[in-house]
Amino acid sequence: MIPFLDLKAPYTELKAELDEAIARVVSSGWFIGGAEVEQFEAEYASYCGTDYAVGVANGLDALHLALRAMGVGPGDEVIVPSNTYIATWLAVSQCGAIPVPVEPDELTFNINPNFIESAITSRTKVILPVHLYGQPADLDPILEIARKHGLRVLEDGAQAHGASYRGRRLGAHGDAVAWSFYPGKNLGAMGDGGAVTTNDPKIADRLQVLRNYGSRVKYVNEIQGYNSRLDPLQAAILRVKLNYLDQWNSKRKKIAEIYSNDISRAKLVLPHVPEWVDPVWHLYVIRTGQRDFFQSKLNSAGVATLIHYPIPPHMQEAYGYMNFGSNVFPIASQMANEVLSLPMGPSLTEEDAKIVASIVNSVIHSV
Ligand SMILES: *Cc1c(COP(=O)(O)O)cnc(C)c1O
Repeated sequence: MIPFLDLKAPYTELKAELDEAIARVVSSGWFIGGAEVEQFEAEYASYCGTDYAVGVANGLDALHLALRAMGVGPGDEVIVPSNTYIATWLAVSQCGAIPVPVEPDELTFNINPNFIESAITSRTKVILPVHLYGQPADLDPILEIARKHGLRVLEDGAQAHGASYRGRRLGAHGDAVAWSFYPGKNLGAMGDGGAVTTNDPKIADRLQVLRNYGSRVKYVNEIQGYNSRLDPLQAAILRVKLNYLDQWNSKRKKIAEIYSNDISRAKLVLPHVPEWVDPVWHLYVIRTGQRDFFQSKLNSAGVATLIHYPIPPHMQEAYGYMNFGSNVFPIASQMANEVLSLPMGPSLTEEDAKIVASIVNSVIHSV
């Protein structure tokens, strides 16, 4: 069986360095905040080319607290993609605000800037594009719309560590980027972790207070904040892994190249990469009208696949109270029925990628 993703591989690869980093934290006796977290924040900000990186507990909190830092509150509206992972929407709901879904471009899977303006109302505060599957959304037109309407832009970068848009790495094209270091992401911890990068000192300052009980000075609380801290153990692990991120992303790129060159486009739609993005292939997602048949055939032939995501947020029971009709977001609904993610990760070998491609081709011929 060719696995979808090997989560043990980074530890096997970097055991000595990771053991050293873990032992350093454990023996320091410093388990909340401190130098390890600050150093990771400085290193990640530098990697992203931003003035600030603020560590938080996970990617959902990064989104939620960044929205709060931008002043989003009850009754406000935030524009989100209709085809994202539910965390993007939950972050908006957790502010008491309303997620306003906008359909994606069918080729790139990312929010379609042409549909954004008609979703803006007097209550809209933020546009929240997601760099889905590791490919940057088309930011320039989104930023232009935001300027025109006086809105903020928060990017969901949870799947796109190291990706570039028009030659510049993600980090602060918009007002801020929210990151997740969930173990399966391109830069993953050995547990939960998250961060927000920004060039805006007010957003960074607000986040530092929000993540720490609303407190700047111990036992002095300015606002009703949260407990959302990046764990120093995870920070130490992330510092090691950050040094390998570019190398790992290159390996993903190589796998994607093999898939794109070798897989026949006869009955499948392969990922489309516009020339102005440099994606990091968090996922390699194909589309087919016979997805379920395809997935079971691949599974019997020894290729593990996953579906990202089988139910769009507007069809989830969690959002039942918003009473979305069953066909209000037909593109998101169709994608949920047609997308299939092939094995992808830095430890997948080129030989295995070629095997996957040839099995996919043989399944195509049997459809
Ligand atoms: C993983 C992910 C998140 C949430 O990250 P967690 O660290 O699991 O909270 C948010 N948005 C997207 C698009 C994601 O893929």
